[in-house]
Amino acid sequence: MPFASLGLQPDLVQSALEQGYTQPTAIQNAAIPAILQGGDVLATAQTGSGKTAAFCLPLLQQWLSRPRGILRQPQALVLLPTRELAAQVGEILRDLAQALPRKLKVAVVYGGVSINPQMMALRGGADIVVATPGRLLDLLDHNALRLSAVKTLVLDEADRLLDLGFADELGSVLDRLPPTRQNLLFSATFPPAVRALAEKLLNQPLRIDIEQTAATAPDILQRAIEVDADKRTLLLRHLLAANNWDRVLVFVASRQAADRVAGKLHRNGVSAAALHGDCSQSQRGQVLADLKSGRLRVLVATDVAARGIDIARLPLVVNYDLPRSPVDYTHRIGRTGRAGARGEAISFVSADCAAHFKLIEKRQQLRLTRERIDGFEPTEASAPAASLTDPDGNGGIKGKRKSKKDKLREAAARQQSGDN
Ligand code: AMP
Repeated sequence: MPFASLGLQPDLVQSALEQGYTQPTAIQNAAIPAILQGGDVLATAQTGSGKTAAFCLPLLQQWLSRPRGILRQPQALVLLPTRELAAQVGEILRDLAQALPRKLKVAVVYGGVSINPQMMALRGGADIVVATPGRLLDLLDHNALRLSAVKTLVLDEADRLLDLGFADELGSVLDRLPPTRQNLLFSATFPPAVRALAEKLLNQPLRIDIEQTAATAPDILQRAIEVDADKRTLLLRHLLAANNWDRVLVFVASRQAADRVAGKLHRNGVSAAALHGDCSQSQRGQVLADLKSGRLRVLVATDVAARGIDIARLPLVVNYDLPRSPVDYTHRIGRTGRAGARGEAISFVSADCAAHFKLIEKRQQLRLTRERIDGFEPTEASAPAASLTDPDGNGGIKGKRKSKKDKLREAAARQQSGDN
């Protein structure tokens, strides 16, 4: 179905075309008409499915169809878990609004930077606010904006919002919104906490569950390479030299590891930089821009810093340190294979995290062949799964022993202490 038949007005169809969106994705086909009709929506959609435009295009149409109030109070509020995501959604809204007959004012607000410029930016009001919850509350406390005119609330990456401990902030924001409004909730996964939030928040929502069919499933080749922990940087350099990947996102477990691995690559002639929570907002923006422009080849990042970032045509994700949880695995590899492009995700599996990786595979319903690279064959023996992460032999799911998360954490810490 073309965009025009989804109920979008010609200006917005044109905006989508100018972004290179010729055909709507599955989530766009399902969500756009429903949002335009004004109902609540609960969508489970993976990252890379086109979900951002699925809510941005209807938000813009709704904004165009309403008169601009004298005070220019925000009509829509988009809440996201990280500053990168907030910046990205703000950018997409601005891009889509570029050629519209009215000038859109989007305010993007997030923590970790000075609040003053954001307060200044809100002075003349804003049409749409894109925010992380904590900073939004700070701004509300400073009377920098009011939410009383909000007609549509979007919670994007709702599972991450809850994972990152934003439940209380979310509650406080909800309390300040008008009770009658449209609610749109997007989440990559649908754990009980998201279900509870959806039940509390949504009013007879249209449930959209985009199945991972061949057409929508990201085309990601997943690989697992066995290697000793202290040979991982060398192996990474070897793989970079042997393949012509132009952009690579490497995940590590800590800020220190990000600096260390990026530093080693850099000293060996690979253009690499680190991205983690200690980086200033301008550093983050700069390294992402450098990666996108091709000035940087490798970005070594921690999970928090890399959550949700959209790097067009990212061919490869490397799990240098394994993710702590299967959900993080999904998020990490979802950075590649976006919008129909092919991607590859390589996990380095060293002996001390072999059982940990099995657990991830089990939860992903995945079984990857263990590869070995000539010259990098592991010399350390894997600890038997049962002794390391699965003492009760039931996949670590039941019983009163350590939680799965604890085990994954321990394995990540062990792996890091053997880090080179
Ligand atoms: P998202 O799932 O919103 O993070 O989107 C993933 C990527 O898909 C982004 O780079 C978008 O620019 C791109 N995208 C969104 N909608 C379309 C579409 N209809 N056709 C092609 N690419 C799209």
